[in-house]
Amino acid sequence: SQNGSLSDNTNWAQSGNGTASDDGKLLNAALVALVRNSELSDMRSTIRQIEDRFNRNHGYPYIFLNDEDFTEEFKEQVRAVANSPVYFGKLPQEHWGLSPYVTGEKVKEALERNKDRYLYGGSFSYREMCRFQSGFIHKHPLLQNLDYYWRIEPGVEYFCDIPYDPFKYMRDNNLIYGFTITPTESAPTVETLWKTTREWMLENPHLLPDKSFIHWVVNEKAKYTLCHFWSNFEIVDLSFYRSEAYESYFQHLDRAGGFFYERWGDAPVHSMAASILLKKEQIHWFEDIGYHHPGYAHCPNKPEMKSRCVCKDNLDYMYKSMCNRRFGEVGNIYKDQALALAQM
Ligand code: GDP
Ligand code: MN
Repeated sequence: SQNGSLSDNTNWAQSGNGTASDDGKLLNAALVALVRNSELSDMRSTIRQIEDRFNRNHGYPYIFLNDEDFTEEFKEQVRAVANSPVYFGKLPQEHWGLSPYVTGEKVKEALERNKDRYLYGGSFSYREMCRFQSGFIHKHPLLQNLDYYWRIEPGVEYFCDIPYDPFKYMRDNNLIYGFTITPTESAPTVETLWKTTREWMLENPHLLPDKSFIHWVVNEKAKYTLCHFWSNFEIVDLSFYRSEAYESYFQHLDRAGGFFYERWGDAPVHSMAASILLKKEQIHWFEDIGYHHPGYAHCPNKPEMKSRCVCKDNLDYMYKSMCNRRFGEVGNIYKDQALALAQM
């Protein structure tokens, strides 16, 4: 079913085992990864863990996307480790590649200039990937009918048993965006992201909510804190990415060229959008989901959470993280205050 639609399949929604605490029905949700054929073994490792920690009790489908065709080997071996329906999709050409708003010549210069300045500074494909995850992943035909996605990546680790359904937790608590880790972004990759964002806010006040969590990403002096949710894990109500405000914001960013001329990541972009368009109550730290992606890890330290985990080390990054502390401390501010920050 390389390009099949989820709605073609009427069985998967009833195929879960459910748990004692819910009605056994699955939400319209899936585990989703953009991945390369070469990452097969790491992808299987992630799926094995997701199955063991969570999904064997539910049977949520998986969706794997790739800018190239998946090999038969990839599909077979991924299907063999997943215990639920698996869909493979290829990206539409217009969702990958150079943005129509940048020129190849200037992009070449930017890669040359930045190749030793930061990680992936000279990589073209990394920039295609970040732009895709920022503006197009939710538009893929396989995701069109989904209400929620849980983004997964090859080679990550899940340390803790997850004895409930995080999708239902999102729904039951009116949550839009869920995360596990909040680092600070490398400044030279996002030199003009906040400047470009504030331009969009000032041009589109009608798309801003009455209250927002913007103070998490910019401080009292309207300086970008570089705080972001690490999007290699994210559980999101996709109506957020499909909203008029998000699309307008993405278009504005794309036109500014920063996905290619700089190296704007989908993590700072999603996070900036969540902070300016959502309220704090709509954003959730899944503190109980112990997680590792190369670079950072989180292991819960609360006894009732920790007892379900097998952490290799004392992975207390999130209990020291400036951005996590800030997440706890700051609250929502009103739209006129947000606009004042954008004007500073
Ligand atoms: P990092 O986490 O920022 O170091 O970036 P990754 O290399 O992990 O890429 C993020 C996600 O996009 C991972 O799931 C990768 O498998 C996927 N990805 C990155 N580049 C490509 C690409 O060129 N093609 C495909 N199909 N997937 C990619
Ligand atoms: Mn990664």
